[in-house]
Amino acid sequence: MSDCLIVGGGIIGMMSARSLALSGAKVTLLDQNKCAQESSWAGGGIISPLYPWKYDKLTNELSQASQLVYEQLCVQIFEDTGLDPQYLKSGLLMMDEFDTVEAKSWMQDHQLNYQVHEDGALFEHIAQVRNPRLLKALKADVISRGVTIIEQTKVEQLLVRNDQSLGVKTPYKNYLSDSVVVCSGAWSSQWLELTQEVFPVKGQMIVLKSDPGVVNHIILDQGRYIIPRKDGRILVGSTMQNVGFDRSIDEQTRQSLHEFASKRFSSLAKAEVEHHWSGFRPASKSSKVLLGKHANFDNVYLNTGHFRNGLNMAPESAKRITQLITNEN
Ligand SMILES: Cc1cc2nc3c(=O)[nH]c(=O)nc-3n(C[C@H](O)[C@H](O)[C@H](O)COP(=O)(O)OP(=O)(O)OC[C@H]3O[C@@H](n4cnc5c(N)ncnc54)[C@H](O)[C@@H]3O)c2cc1C
Repeated sequence: MSDCLIVGGGIIGMMSARSLALSGAKVTLLDQNKCAQESSWAGGGIISPLYPWKYDKLTNELSQASQLVYEQLCVQIFEDTGLDPQYLKSGLLMMDEFDTVEAKSWMQDHQLNYQVHEDGALFEHIAQVRNPRLLKALKADVISRGVTIIEQTKVEQLLVRNDQSLGVKTPYKNYLSDSVVVCSGAWSSQWLELTQEVFPVKGQMIVLKSDPGVVNHIILDQGRYIIPRKDGRILVGSTMQNVGFDRSIDEQTRQSLHEFASKRFSSLAKAEVEHHWSGFRPASKSSKVLLGKHANFDNVYLNTGHFRNGLNMAPESAKRITQLITNEN
């Protein structure tokens, strides 16, 4: 019997596991495949919403609070595990939309500093993480803190008595717990009924082989972006496709992402596309993050529906769900 059972081992599940374990809870985390392979692996790792004024208050609150702690968190995880999440304050150069009335007024209200250049507006404070590495480090970190991780185990449904959950049912056995935390990303509505349905929005991305110094900042233009990693590799993303759980990638997208990057940096036209992949962002019908208690069960908590911003909202989402659970138990 665990105090807390977490369903899903992406950034949200693992960050929640860390935070709950630090608060003294006995945590078990279940994943239907291997942890850290889905959206949290597929994402770009930009630690900010792309055009923040397009998002609701909660998204921005979660993101801003997370941005304040991200660097120190990565330093701590690196120290504790020896694995470097490569937090990098590369800054973000926004080439469009920064000069609309809505954007200007939002940035003034939030006292956001930026410098207008010939090419766009530079937000120097915006950082990135190498998300696959952060996830690898987080997994090692939570295991060292006593979290039990059980992979290749799909949660089929809640075990319920009246308005309480007793735990979850899997094909192999039932797992009992005092509370259940739903961190199942785009699959959350596949095994649990939610008042706001969660569904996948596919994003395709490529990585180009290049050298450090070719691109210095994250570049954002027309909803697409270029992310320079420390070692010179360059990520280019991404599409927004409402096609269910179809993982396929296509040549047309690969070319269009490569062209997007080459238009801005001509030397990238010859760069090799090392890899091309897709991932499923967890979108919600309300366009809001689902963070809090399940409407029908006292001891089931939701931490899902982070859509395009799960990597940047994860630390504060995990902190809030931990506070809610520990204050109630
Ligand atoms: C192309 C792309 C680019 C992105 N770029 C960024 C970015 O730059 N910055 C940013 O902040 N965000 C970005 N995102 C969004 C971000 O990746 C997501 O919001 C975030 O990863 C969601 O995390 P999660 O843990 O909820 O989901 P996931 O990482 O998908 O994890 C969910 C886990 O739950 C498991 N699971 C599901 N159902 C069950 C079940 N029934 N039983 C057991 N396990 C189950 C899955 O196997 C999976 O491991 C991007 C996403 C994509 C696709």
